[in-house]
Amino acid sequence: MAKSSVLGYPRIGADREWKKALEAFWSGKLEESEFHSQLQAIRLNHLRKQQEKGIDFIAVNDFSYYDHILDTATMFGIIPKRFAYEGGAVPLSIYYGIARGTKDATASEMTKWFNTNYHYIVPELDGANPSVTENRPLIAYREAKEKLGIEGKPVIVGPLTFLKLSKGYHQSETDAWLERLVPLYVQILQELEHEGVQWVQIDEPILVTKLDAEDVQRLKSIYDTFAAKVPNLNIMLQTYFESVENYSDIVTLPVKGIGLDFVHGLTGNIASIKKLGFPSDKVLGAGVVDGRGIWKASLRDKLVLIEELSGFVTPDHLIVQSSCSLLHVPVTVQNEVKLIPDLKNALAFADEKLDELVLLAKACSDKASIEAELEKCDLAIQALKLSGERNRNDIQHAVAIISEEQPKRNLPFSERHIAQQNKWQLPIFPTTTIGSFPQSVEVRKARQSWRKGVWTNEQYASFIRDQIDIWIKLQEEIGLDVLVHGEFERTDMVEFFGEKLGGFAFTQYGWVQSYGSRCVKPPIIFGDVAFEEAMTVEETKYAQSKTKHPVKGMLTGPITIMNWSFVREDITREQIAYQLAYALRQEVEALENAGIGMIQVDEPAVREGLPLKEQDQAEYLAWAVKAFRMTTCTVQDTTQIHTHMCYCEFHDMIDSIEAMDADVISIETSRSHGELIHSFEVNTYKLGIGLGVYDIHSPRVPRVEEMTSMIERALRVLDPKLFWINPDCGLKTRGFEETVESLRNMVDATQIARAKH
Ligand code: GLN
Ligand code: ZN
Repeated sequence: MAKSSVLGYPRIGADREWKKALEAFWSGKLEESEFHSQLQAIRLNHLRKQQEKGIDFIAVNDFSYYDHILDTATMFGIIPKRFAYEGGAVPLSIYYGIARGTKDATASEMTKWFNTNYHYIVPELDGANPSVTENRPLIAYREAKEKLGIEGKPVIVGPLTFLKLSKGYHQSETDAWLERLVPLYVQILQELEHEGVQWVQIDEPILVTKLDAEDVQRLKSIYDTFAAKVPNLNIMLQTYFESVENYSDIVTLPVKGIGLDFVHGLTGNIASIKKLGFPSDKVLGAGVVDGRGIWKASLRDKLVLIEELSGFVTPDHLIVQSSCSLLHVPVTVQNEVKLIPDLKNALAFADEKLDELVLLAKACSDKASIEAELEKCDLAIQALKLSGERNRNDIQHAVAIISEEQPKRNLPFSERHIAQQNKWQLPIFPTTTIGSFPQSVEVRKARQSWRKGVWTNEQYASFIRDQIDIWIKLQEEIGLDVLVHGEFERTDMVEFFGEKLGGFAFTQYGWVQSYGSRCVKPPIIFGDVAFEEAMTVEETKYAQSKTKHPVKGMLTGPITIMNWSFVREDITREQIAYQLAYALRQEVEALENAGIGMIQVDEPAVREGLPLKEQDQAEYLAWAVKAFRMTTCTVQDTTQIHTHMCYCEFHDMIDSIEAMDADVISIETSRSHGELIHSFEVNTYKLGIGLGVYDIHSPRVPRVEEMTSMIERALRVLDPKLFWINPDCGLKTRGFEETVESLRNMVDATQIARAKH
């Protein structure tokens, strides 16, 4: 009979109890010993759940106190020099210091985990003198065995992936680093082998990216070493998020099992198996249940897939598993009581996926035994498919028509720019902000009172108007040229729009870990996206009525809304992006009709949707750009379209950014200024651009001279006639005083620049 396996389970708990424990500990409200026991209770609860559901291979050591890459680094004693580490087990003070910074030492960098919204702490190898500080997988294995009688499958990030994700070494030192790290892995694995562990899962997601010949050689040597040193340990070499690139090399590695993603890497992995077969001495970890999507699997389709795979492996060599760790999905659908039944019944979060895995494994030997479940599953999927929300003919029709056209502004930028200059008469180096102003305690309290029904709509609206009044006056007094209303009515740049558009749903508990204790609750785009009524016109119009300066309307763009949501899978992401674009275009038009002549469409998350495989990236960027243009192309020549993007590596995307054809873009840059300017230097960007002149992530008020030098530096490369001056990003997390002071300094720096150029 086929076995079921889970690659990892969410840490946060159904009620985010993990997050709460971490934050209580950080704030000193929880003693360390109590903290450990709370986390242990959470961890055991998760293991017990998987045991009770009947999962055969349960991952241990997937749990973390913050992040599993940080765990791996600290396990090997890889601690940046600025933390006073003296060897031995790494204390929590240092562990959390690396993650969050201390008053004396800055935190390590954090970055995206492949193409997910999870962020890991980047290990810093420079100066490290690695050794095994504790065998974490072994501790986790023993705990599961002693407390619950579970024969766990320890999980560990593999050496090649770990090294590739680390920084602080030169490429030429790669082999030297492997020579130091591999023996430590061997030590860990030998202890596991000695303990009698059956299987370990070694995660090497780096194998879904392109490896050069040298890396393939390294891979071989790593796993040859493991085979020689721990011959009795079954290694499941696990990949996920895409198909593997070097299939023929990977399947010849001396490991017992190979785990492949047959959801996100379906096409490529199937093609490889068909072409080259699968070695008969190995176990295939078949990742057929989507570990990062929220939808119920069509069990029937999955059985067909498993059937197909069975042509290449014998039943006792097949493990039915999640495509990746379940870390990326919420815990359970069960507690959701507000979703419409058609939607709720079609969802599967982590716990429901456990059921799916067990059922599928069972069906491998006895399909008839799950016939009732198959039918139930078909019905649920069918009901959603037939729901009114998924069958908005009006929208589908309109979107089909507009996506036929190549969306484009009436005039090219060079001509629009003149028309806009004539209309707006802005000074050289116009100043503006990115949209939000501080969301004070008062603002948040007001929103709560309104949400709870303590405040009437009118009370809340009048409060928002007062905030707008205050900030319009302030912006005028500070001397900014293009004003904003301040976004006081918005909690979050996606939720705000999702709540007003059709086709969206919001869960009550659908949280997923983003980084550390920070969790996000993405909306679900489950139906056709529909513009129902104007979403931002009232506040923007009000703000404009209070000033002679132009007020910029403020929207979140289609790609960002999509990338920060869970989305339906019955239509393509491209289609979803166009539906969003169509809806947002109606908002852009409503703003313009209300007399708003500058409209900013934020796209900070464009890069987050970039496919892992290079060969797929151009296509994604092409339709992402098209969706942006679709949103913004119908306005008059004199209407100025702005966009904003947050910190990310733009160097390989500048052509796409330019193709968006926004009249002005503001980019978060102060944390990578030199690099970014260089990208623009080699690419000669030809539209309006504001490179953020100060970092909004810190409460520190930047001095005038700092900003002056940022401006001068940018002007060495960029056309002064197209240059704008603005902060890095929205100011909603900042305090009142520091914001006002920083903006005053920014305007002073602008005056200096104006006098000079
Ligand atoms: N307009 C948004 C704001 O100012 C942009 C936020 C963002 O880029 N993440 O808050
Ligand atoms: Zn931003």
